[in-house]
Amino acid sequence: MSRVPPSAIITDQDKAMKKAIQIVFPKARHRWCLWHILKKILEKFKGYREYKSIKFCLKNVVYDSLTKEEFEERWGRFIEKYHLESHEWFLELYNERYYWVPTFVKDTFWAGMSTTQRSESINAFFDGYVHHQTTLKEFVEQYDKALAKNVVNENTEDFNSFQSSIPCFTHYAMEKQFQSVYTTAKYKEFRKELLGKVCCNFSSCKEDGVISEYEIHEDGAFGENSQHATFLVYFNKDTNEVNCNCRFFEFRGILCRHQIMVLFHMKIDQVPNKYIFKRWSKNIKRSHTKVRINYDNRLVKLETQCFDKMYKVFNEVADLAVDSEDKCEKVVARILELKGELKQEKLFSGSNEPISAGIPTDSTSCGDDLAISKETKIYLIQ
Ligand SMILES: [Zn+2]
Repeated sequence: MSRVPPSAIITDQDKAMKKAIQIVFPKARHRWCLWHILKKILEKFKGYREYKSIKFCLKNVVYDSLTKEEFEERWGRFIEKYHLESHEWFLELYNERYYWVPTFVKDTFWAGMSTTQRSESINAFFDGYVHHQTTLKEFVEQYDKALAKNVVNENTEDFNSFQSSIPCFTHYAMEKQFQSVYTTAKYKEFRKELLGKVCCNFSSCKEDGVISEYEIHEDGAFGENSQHATFLVYFNKDTNEVNCNCRFFEFRGILCRHQIMVLFHMKIDQVPNKYIFKRWSKNIKRSHTKVRINYDNRLVKLETQCFDKMYKVFNEVADLAVDSEDKCEKVVARILELKGELKQEKLFSGSNEPISAGIPTDSTSCGDDLAISKETKIYLIQ
């Protein structure tokens, strides 16, 4: 993590972990994996006569509550209906709702880790590497391998996204914007929202100064059982900022169909920069792909070693300057100067330098025996 504490953490529902995170990472937003919670609740009620009905209602309450108020109201009705007022498990879960109920966790950015799908969770990251009989020593080794595999996957995705792009569905400049900037996988997520717009209709609009409030009615797509839902979108005419109470953007980092609809309505065809995340751009070198993997020295490449060395010095310099604006300006100015020099050097050293794409030449080598150092070189000829 390059000495930066995580801003968000997902764990199983575990008291010791909760306490430890509060102490060690007091600023991190901690959330429990909803998939595990629902699995536990449903296991507990398996023998009940009303099991199916409880399961149905509970999922409704959890997934279909768009706002905190709506959740409180629906939860109250659910508990009353099944006489669960003194059920300890539910009491505790309710008290800890901030940790697991989607509408409470959606204000935080979770980098695409959804509340519902286990396949997108960290379990999938370790699938095939770690199982319940893995020892601590094995875990450290396997963790490195899983991390290295992830880096290879990301590099492959970036590389493929560069090599070819899938065609746009529409003629909108906004779609073209995402197609040219994002990796194919992320562009597809945006496109899904763009196409989802056809299920939405404006139902009302209110204006208050620079802020316009739109009510958007969507058919079908929300929650597990609901047939339709109404969302509120706020648009600021001065800044072109657009917020939706479905919180999809805050949570997943992709503009929702309701925001897109309002942007189109306001004749904005290029999305403001704040809605485009660098982390999903195919143009960036992700710094974590250069972080040294501790266990297996075979994986330490020259590029990684250089990066480590520079990172250490940068950190020390930043630590010394962090308490004063003047010192900070001085550091930034020197670094920009250095950046200019290096850019010039790169320009004059010729364009035939190979660029490492990080793609193993043998695709079968991504398994247990990670041969990351075998790379395809690409030569740029102008
Ligand atoms: Zn929305």
